[in-house]
Amino acid sequence: MIYEDYYIFTPGPVKMSDEILEIGSKQTPYFRNCKFSDVTYACEKGLLEMVNAPEGSRVIFLTASGTAGMEATVMNLLSKDDNALVVNGGGFGNRFVTICDVHGVPHTDFKVKDTNLHNIEELAPKGEYTSLIVNAHETSVGHLYDLDAMGAYAKKRDLLFIVDAISMLVTDPLDMQSQNIDVVIASSQKGLALPPGLTMVILAPRALEKVQDINSLYFNFKDYLKNGERGQTPYTPAVTIMLQLEARLNQIKRRGGVGQSIKRAKDIAEYFRAEIKGLPLKEYTSYMPNAMTTLTPTDGKSAMDIVNDLEERYKVMVCPNGGAERDIIFRVSHMGDMTRAYTDVLIDALYDYYGMKRV
Ligand SMILES: *Cc1c(COP(=O)(O)O)cnc(C)c1O
Repeated sequence: MIYEDYYIFTPGPVKMSDEILEIGSKQTPYFRNCKFSDVTYACEKGLLEMVNAPEGSRVIFLTASGTAGMEATVMNLLSKDDNALVVNGGGFGNRFVTICDVHGVPHTDFKVKDTNLHNIEELAPKGEYTSLIVNAHETSVGHLYDLDAMGAYAKKRDLLFIVDAISMLVTDPLDMQSQNIDVVIASSQKGLALPPGLTMVILAPRALEKVQDINSLYFNFKDYLKNGERGQTPYTPAVTIMLQLEARLNQIKRRGGVGQSIKRAKDIAEYFRAEIKGLPLKEYTSYMPNAMTTLTPTDGKSAMDIVNDLEERYKVMVCPNGGAERDIIFRVSHMGDMTRAYTDVLIDALYDYYGMKRV
């Protein structure tokens, strides 16, 4: 399957830069040596800097998709003595609920709709919680939560604040220190714009203290933390993706830092939303991240048909939803190696599709 001719606006995998693609084409090096340990150290340092992690924080590198980061976090940090408040605003929030179920972690399924939880104090169900869990950007619908408000809420109640930042890191602001975040879960194939297969769990000292002995070999954080001291992982890491991550972190720095990267994503998201104002499409939520725009057709067209037609006629890949939302919404990612010019291809395709003239 050759994908080079396509224009990619799916929320993972996203468009990668040539620099990153080139690393992927090289022979994978041996990794049980100091040279590779230095790569791990550089990735850890770069990630900790990027999220403004408190002194003494650590990163766990898992060779797995993002869900493994979510599950491993719950397994290693929570137990039957906890009570987690799990924000559930869609498919990914629901996945955390399922994970808590599977691992016997007591939890409250906090269903949310049409709010970014800036007023979490009023909305949260009353209860004695030990932890607050959220997918900062609920990617299934393109909804961004207010991490400032949630962090303040967690701090006031001394909750372990676990944030899945997989689809907003690098495009939307996150600050572990000012937002009192104890755990950040990241994954390679979204905003980081790398191939899928590498997941990172960033643990602040408060979370490190909670790491417990668990009934799992592969997902045992203690093992990763111990091996990490010498820049290694217990089992074979996603070596090439680690090399790409090191390069990507340098690329972000070279381009002016993560703040600049967020600004760029914001510019492209706002440009896209302004340019399509003339089309029979409306924004699905008022709490959109820079990472993505979710759209609803207003002329009765099926969202799924639009997705399929864009692919067939213009080689433009946007993202459909399943289930009840199949005909109602589709999603456009702004993550990855995006420019206004690249985004223009999608905008022009949409105008052509509707037989309308872009002004
Ligand atoms: C993509 C994504 C994940 C991870 O999904 P995987 O398919 O396991 O990589 C987790 N959380 C959010 C919010 C995501 O967008």
